[in-house]
Amino acid sequence: MQGYISRVCTSFIDVPDKIAIAVYFSGCSIHCKGCQNKELWDKKSGKLTKTSKVIEQIDKHPLAEYVVFIGGEPTDQMDFLVNICQNIKNKKIAMYSGREFEIFPEKLLESMDLIICGPYRQDLHVNNRWPASTNQRVFRKESEKWKQIK
Ligand code: SF4
Repeated sequence: MQGYISRVCTSFIDVPDKIAIAVYFSGCSIHCKGCQNKELWDKKSGKLTKTSKVIEQIDKHPLAEYVVFIGGEPTDQMDFLVNICQNIKNKKIAMYSGREFEIFPEKLLESMDLIICGPYRQDLHVNNRWPASTNQRVFRKESEKWKQIK
């Protein structure tokens, strides 16, 4: 399977207190006012990339505890996103999405460990632990159950 990815890089801020590999999806149909990644709204700003290539890039970061999907809007390419998740080994998986938790399908939730979700609002941005706005909710899977932690 393949989809549009902008870049894969190390992140020290997207999952607080953890080293993560950030996979930036390109393409976003949500268009939040005040989005800080507008250059990624166009899918074609990234490159068509195979799942195996994304996994190869993730595997180059053995010290990272998490893979975090960010963008762009990862769930705009749902089948590709799920396919990548299903091929990740030995890492926890996090995602930033402009969509609400309740609409995510089980095939996605079963692979994820942490989700920061809801439309970004620049007027509600604060510099705290999460690079997000205060309206965005954070869910963590604990003992196979999802719990809202913020
Ligand atoms: S969902 Fe993310 S990438 Fe899309 S407009 Fe909102 S903040 Fe920007």
